[in-house]
Amino acid sequence: MEKYIPDIYKKSIFDIDYKKLKENGIKCLLFDLDNTLVPCKQKKVSAEVQELIYNLKKLHFKIIIFSNSPRLRVRSFGEVLNVDILGYARKPFKYSFQKIFKKYKYTENEVAIIGDQMLTDVLGGNKVGITTILVTPLGKDTFFTKINRFRENNIMLKLRDHSLFTKGKYYDEV
Ligand SMILES: [Mg+2]
Repeated sequence: MEKYIPDIYKKSIFDIDYKKLKENGIKCLLFDLDNTLVPCKQKKVSAEVQELIYNLKKLHFKIIIFSNSPRLRVRSFGEVLNVDILGYARKPFKYSFQKIFKKYKYTENEVAIIGDQMLTDVLGGNKVGITTILVTPLGKDTFFTKINRFRENNIMLKLRDHSLFTKGKYYDEV
């Protein structure tokens, strides 16, 4: 069950202590796209998200949009935010994470993933040993993520019963 538990749990990407991540040696942030940076199906990022990414780049973080969505959709956000992308990532499989380590020469200790799903973002990140940050989803799920969300709810209930994780009880462990 521990493999589903994030290192950090926050309401949104705006509540994360990025300076602390930096101090802890994190150099690269993998951002999930749908329901993390933008609500599902939305085609544009908000001014607030643009500003956040701009500020994170100023802090010298490498930003990569790391999404299971089709490359075409991910690419348009990469262009607007002027960041690298990896689309069709097939989280929680390890393959795309390993591709990042290889391409950018980062170690597990230097990378964090930020996403809204335990079953893809957190599980995948924990499998490869990077810092995992869960945020509350921005909006409604699509047909596909609904199935994951149903399973996630069951996992969250089990974790709660074991006093390991409670939905909505945000924390910062690192
Ligand atoms: Mg998502």
